[in-house]
Amino acid sequence: MSTGYVWHEQYAWHDTGTGAGLLPAGGPLQPFANFESPESKTRFAGLVEVSGMLDHLVRVPARPATEADVLRVHTPAYLDRIKTASASGGGDAGDGMSPFGAGAYEIALLSAGGTIAATEAVLTGRAENAYALVRPPGHHAVRDHGMGYCLFSNISIAVEWARAHHGIRRVAVVDYDVHHGNGTQSVFDDDADVLTVSIHQERLFPQDTGAMDDHGKAGTALNIPLPAGCGNDAYTEAVRRVVVPALHRFAPELIMVASGFDASAADPLGRMTVTSAGYRSMTEQLVQAAREICSGRLVMSHEGGYSPVYTPFCGLAVLEALSGHDTGVGDPFDVTWANSPQHPLTPAQDTVLREAQDIAERLQLALPERAPTDSRS
Ligand code: ZN
Repeated sequence: MSTGYVWHEQYAWHDTGTGAGLLPAGGPLQPFANFESPESKTRFAGLVEVSGMLDHLVRVPARPATEADVLRVHTPAYLDRIKTASASGGGDAGDGMSPFGAGAYEIALLSAGGTIAATEAVLTGRAENAYALVRPPGHHAVRDHGMGYCLFSNISIAVEWARAHHGIRRVAVVDYDVHHGNGTQSVFDDDADVLTVSIHQERLFPQDTGAMDDHGKAGTALNIPLPAGCGNDAYTEAVRRVVVPALHRFAPELIMVASGFDASAADPLGRMTVTSAGYRSMTEQLVQAAREICSGRLVMSHEGGYSPVYTPFCGLAVLEALSGHDTGVGDPFDVTWANSPQHPLTPAQDTVLREAQDIAERLQLALPERAPTDSRS
């Protein structure tokens, strides 16, 4: 198998300023660095090289998305606002917590375009699957504004590009970032040909979206909000019991993954305890499902993950699972988190998964025309 890989130095140049973690500095808040900083991505890219993983990947050059690519998803007014602010020193994407500096517009185009390039590599058979290590992230951005560090909806833009250029119709987006993939869901809210699945910590961010009973206007949004404190078992079981069966029922031609590592045990923003083993297991299941459903077509686009020291090892495990290549590096942090008592599934977590499974199965009943035996497929 072959795995495409996108990384560009300029992704590290996206400037999120000197705020204090989440908030702009000022008053009692001493300037520091935004949680969304280059380090977790540059150190991931560094480990990909130092581990030898890079020699087993297909390098896919990043390229900027065009304005036409962006405008399939975002409003002209929003694109113009980001472009203008970027050219005049910087601004905020929309929620007051998504700062950007000069040149962010071009880097955001390169981030969306990197996800497009990874998608193209898979759709043209250059790679079986692909990982786009891009920045800024995308899954919170809605059509007319950005939020949650996200400027443009990278995955949505790549999905619409694939539909425009490769005749793709049905796509599933699986989002395991610890935050709800609200932006992606909203873009495809009334589109019955896109299944959006989000596994996230309940009411973390945004606090008012991603409830279990929110299925989107078209009924093809599946939300799996998990209680804080979930470890590897809750995540891998969510994928096994809920996500993979939903993918089989939906039968997409392409599976996209919003790959955020902020459910990790070391993350400053999430309250979950997933380790590299959990990310590896989820990826192995998704790789297998993609092979059974859509000739292995699986494209991951990087989202959150704010531990500079641990994100790289979670990412490396995902790349090993995508490519089938074992670097032998392992996870040095296993000494700390591998045997955490928070990994085994608790009865309360099991109850949540049963409810999600039940809801997912009812979605299937509501959409029998999308079963794999559908004559249109
Ligand atoms: Zn996140």
